[in-house]
Parts: sequence; structure tokens; C-alpha cells
Amino acid sequence: MSGQSEANAPDAVSGLPAGTDTGSAVPESWLIASARISQANAHAPYSNFRVGASIETVDGVVFSGCNVENASYPAGVCAERGALAAAIASGARKFSRIVIVTDADEPSPPCGICRQALVEFAPALEVISVAARGRIQRWSLADLLPSPFSPSSLAHA
Ligand SMILES: [Zn+2]
Repeated sequence: MSGQSEANAPDAVSGLPAGTDTGSAVPESWLIASARISQANAHAPYSNFRVGASIETVDGVVFSGCNVENASYPAGVCAERGALAAAIASGARKFSRIVIVTDADEPSPPCGICRQALVEFAPALEVISVAARGRIQRWSLADLLPSPFSPSSLAHA
């Protein structure tokens, strides 16, 4: 990063260079880089399975998260839901893509709980997973979670 001015220091929330006008299409490499930054902060002393995630709003704003494990295992939270919670807390509600990064040999899909959390806001979300050596796999959330329990499901109660 030699020659990088302070004005281009990564934003604390997005991990992108401050002041970046992302428009509606953040380069995928930026989403991956942001997720890798969060992955470095993962708290995963029990599984040693470190995960980072970056979720992009339809307006091109990026929020990131990492897995945060706990000695009481069920209290842990996944990177995908961490990123989603950060976005929701900032007022975002509509999302286009999520990038998941791990150090696994194969790209990891989101777990079932995260699929359910994501479908609440983005049934058509593009899910992109990046493995240790850069292998990428893509899914539609609709394919990963067919027939989801959604807000409309409650209307039938
Ligand atoms: Zn999960």
C-alpha cells in the first residue's frame, strides 16, 4: 500500500477506500477484499474455521462481518449474519450480493440459519463463496433455500 494517501485509508465499516463512490456495482474483488479484512478479525478459537462476509446493498454500500464464536457454542454467530446485522443497524434493507470467504479447500455455502436470515431481506440474493486458493462458487439464495419461510408465510397464519 505504499504511496496510498491517508484519504484512501479503508473505511471502518465497508473496508473500501474512504470516499469511494461505489455506484450500484462494487467490483467483486473489493467485496472479496473487504470480506478478507473481516475474516482476519474472526473469533474462532474453537473451530479454527475463520469466515469473513461482505454484503452489498442495491445502492452499492458494503457491510462486513466475521464469525464470532463463544465458549457457550450456541451463542456464536456466523459471519454472514454479522454482516447482515451491521447493514440492518445502519438502515440498509435491500441487498444484491453477499461474498463469503474461508480458508477451506472448497467454497463454503452459508449455513441454514444464515440462509433463513438472508431470505428475510433478499430472496434473490446472489451468494458468492471464495475458498482458500481463490476458487469461487456462485448460487442464488433462491436455489439454496427453496420454499423458504418468509414474511408472507405469516400472512397465512
Ligand atoms: Zn451461518
